[in-house]
Amino acid sequence: MVSRQLRSRSKKRRSVRTPGGKAIIHYGKKKPKKHHCGRCKKELTGVPNAVPSKIRKMRKTERIPERPYAGVLCGECLENLMRYKTKYEIKFNYPGFSGMDFSRDLTIEKFLPGGWWQEISSVKKAGKEKLAVGKKEEVEEKVEKEPAEKEEEEALEEEEEAAEEKLKKPAKKKKAGETVSEE
Ligand SMILES: [Zn+2]
Repeated sequence: MVSRQLRSRSKKRRSVRTPGGKAIIHYGKKKPKKHHCGRCKKELTGVPNAVPSKIRKMRKTERIPERPYAGVLCGECLENLMRYKTKYEIKFNYPGFSGMDFSRDLTIEKFLPGGWWQEISSVKKAGKEKLAVGKKEEVEEKVEKEPAEKEEEEALEEEEEAAEEKLKKPAKKKKAGETVSEE
């Protein structure tokens, strides 16, 4: 009879034939279950499932990958999260995008850090500052073009008004929200 502590089903059993020809059972630790995405429950790739004592002995590249939300969210959900936060920052930091329309997603918001909303609103008060989230370049390109166009239009309007006040032409304004909603 095996000892009392090994009679538990929480141990992993493995039958082994010894050099002497005997069939015996080896008892080991069970492997923990695989890690899953916290939002969509998909299996996470690149994250090892082993007891912490073994993970500690692994190489750095064999452990949880180095990226935001690694071991917590899958790639798709992380992309959604970043897009979500970026859209809110654009909407509240640039007046041209204030008409932008999209619904709140609480399944994503629950993974954002506690003060994310205050960060955005504080930036709004302080003025236009650099965006803190990834995909800066894409956003800045889109945003920088439109204020420049508007300034040119305003300058043209002023000149027209000064030169010929009698002829009043309706100013053409581009709607900024349309370009973003197509994403
Ligand atoms: Zn996911």
